[in-house]
Amino acid sequence: MTPIQPDPGPPAQAGGRSADSLPGVGPALRESLAKLGLLTLQDLWFHLPLRYEDKTRISAIRDLRVGDIAQVEGRIEAIEKGFRFRPQLRIAVADASSATLLLRFFHFNNAQARQLDVGTRLRCYGEVRRGQHSLEMVHPQYQRLAEDAQSPVEESLTPIYPTTEGLGQKRLAGLIGRALAQLPQDDALELIPLALREANGLTSLRDALLYVHRPPPAADLIGLGLGTHPAQQRLAFEELLAQHLSLRQLRNRLRAQAAPALRGDGGLRKRFLAALPFAPTAAQVRVTAEVERDLGKAVPMLRLVQGDVGSGKTVVAALAALAAVEADRQAALMAPTELLAEQHFVNFHKWISPLGIEVVWLAGKLKGKLRTSALAGLRGAAQIAIGTHALMQEGVEFARLGLVIIDEQHRFGVDQRLALRDKGRAGDEIPHQLVLTATPIPRTLAMTAYADLDVSIIDELPPGRTPVATVVLNGTRRGEVVERIRAACAEGRQAYWVCTVIEESSVEKSAHGRAGPGGGIRDKALVLQAQAAQVTHAELTAALPGMRIGLVHGRMKPAEKQAAMDAFKAGETALLVATTVIEVGVDVPNASLMVVENAERLGLAQLHQLRGRVGRGSTKSSCVLLYQAPLSAMARQRLDVLRETNDGFRIAEKDLELRGPGEVLGTRQTGEMSLRVADLARDAHLLPTIQRTGEILLRDHPDLAARLVARWIGHAARFAGA
Ligand code: ADP
Ligand code: MG
Repeated sequence: MTPIQPDPGPPAQAGGRSADSLPGVGPALRESLAKLGLLTLQDLWFHLPLRYEDKTRISAIRDLRVGDIAQVEGRIEAIEKGFRFRPQLRIAVADASSATLLLRFFHFNNAQARQLDVGTRLRCYGEVRRGQHSLEMVHPQYQRLAEDAQSPVEESLTPIYPTTEGLGQKRLAGLIGRALAQLPQDDALELIPLALREANGLTSLRDALLYVHRPPPAADLIGLGLGTHPAQQRLAFEELLAQHLSLRQLRNRLRAQAAPALRGDGGLRKRFLAALPFAPTAAQVRVTAEVERDLGKAVPMLRLVQGDVGSGKTVVAALAALAAVEADRQAALMAPTELLAEQHFVNFHKWISPLGIEVVWLAGKLKGKLRTSALAGLRGAAQIAIGTHALMQEGVEFARLGLVIIDEQHRFGVDQRLALRDKGRAGDEIPHQLVLTATPIPRTLAMTAYADLDVSIIDELPPGRTPVATVVLNGTRRGEVVERIRAACAEGRQAYWVCTVIEESSVEKSAHGRAGPGGGIRDKALVLQAQAAQVTHAELTAALPGMRIGLVHGRMKPAEKQAAMDAFKAGETALLVATTVIEVGVDVPNASLMVVENAERLGLAQLHQLRGRVGRGSTKSSCVLLYQAPLSAMARQRLDVLRETNDGFRIAEKDLELRGPGEVLGTRQTGEMSLRVADLARDAHLLPTIQRTGEILLRDHPDLAARLVARWIGHAARFAGA
């Protein structure tokens, strides 16, 4: 991974000056500032407030309402130290409106208490609460005022900055203030040329910065809080533009490298398709054509294939692999769990080995002779490799790797993808990359975070699928659900019973550990509450006498897991009790019923994935989401979304709305993509113009583009799509 090191250009006059050029910045302070990434004056200008406090006015105590955050001024009327349940300092303050406010402190020291006497003048700032006898503030900020002096109120809203231990708000605000005093006039500050600013209705950057650092007393605090104020939108535009540009730079860098042009005669692909028991859907044909077009070029492909669960991404992957083989190159398919990798291996073996192609299996568990011969195959004549993370580990070498396929990419880190890719590096040539995902990335995110990827969408399911009917039930109705399973299985149907408990092998653990969605299940406390799959298996076996019930979880040996899956696939077991190991990719078309216990613990994307295990055949399928009451409002909304729709894109958009983009993507995908002002969900409307502006800027002012990236993203290593 090459961290992007944008050329910061000529130091933007004052902006490029080091922060310790400010008076009073010594080594200790410099270290604190560095922790915040604040090295230059420009960094300080762009260190933006998290929120504001309004200390521009004094409210009359009489006018206070519960919930107000207010500043008041008055004299201490009474003071009392109590120790009834715990130490408490109670101070009654009255002002000219002759109303009284109670201040309460639970943490205080004697020195502090000694400074306060009846008659002392105080100015306090805090949230107004309803007390037993009067309104009160708990732990307000306060300052003593001199007896008769007039002390002025703040002239602007007080910004609260993100800071670090040992660096107080006041000190940081003071420094930023001094840095802002050196803010140059517009021409020296702006990196977006005037014509582009005017076209997009952008105000001056200088005005926007001064406004957000020091909003006037009359400022719209609500708008500022929501980030929709024009000054913030001006900054958000620039930040998103910088993000977008940096990703485009990465993509251009990738395109500057070479790749083997994979142009086979199509013979293998033709034979493969002829032997396939079904015809590919129009969407599979279209996406395959897009992939093949990329593969035929001597420029590395980096293409994301998005397709909802069950849309048939594996066929597209197989065709791409065959294109590589036809051109006498190797293809490697890496999947995040052993179960999934094994399933791919079984499919490829069935589909592709008859064509006389050598498919090699590699997983961490593979030891001894088998491993040695697999490795020899990859260094030699083997044409296709299928496996887990083991593929990208040290000691694995490929003779002529031309294509890397990553399945369910949200489970992998970028570095893992690149590690596998670099096994095919030869001179300045790198392999093509095909990335498959069933977690649709909402369009808004795709345009920024994934600006470096080309995206193909399989927007059609194979014919004959019936949408899964989903019901959400209180766990107290488990008995009825067991009854329903008995009836369904008696009719020859098959069912999954999913327990939300994590018991994974170390390989899967590392994969799951990287997962963005469904992260909640990693919470220890929740895991403890979850019913272990073994217990459920025993319970169901007791409740359903005579029924053959399988069990699969991550602690089982791969062979045991595979045996359990095979038995289920062959119909020998009617019911399969499983953990979320079956979430990814497992394919048993005859299974038409799924029960998920404690569904409220899983994220939307994960539940959608799980549910995708049913509805694969032509039988009407259903999914029962059992929850444990009480259900939080958020969990209720999540489960309702699943009840209402089967559409992965709708679900992803909803997920984005409910959780925010950081979590949807998982920070691993975004690298250092923590946005300072912009919010992808809120500011999505800016993206189309940002894309256009980015194009123009790169074409006409590449120097300004580089400086924009340096200003907002700095030199941090970040999402390296290249
Ligand atoms: P996913 O996109 O979730 O990885 P898979 O590739 O596992 O989906 O395909 C799901 C199921 O659909 C598999 O059983 C596969 O054989 C089948 N399938 C794929 N394409 C078609 C098609 N065009 N027609 C019928 N069945 C298909
Ligand atoms: Mg799949």
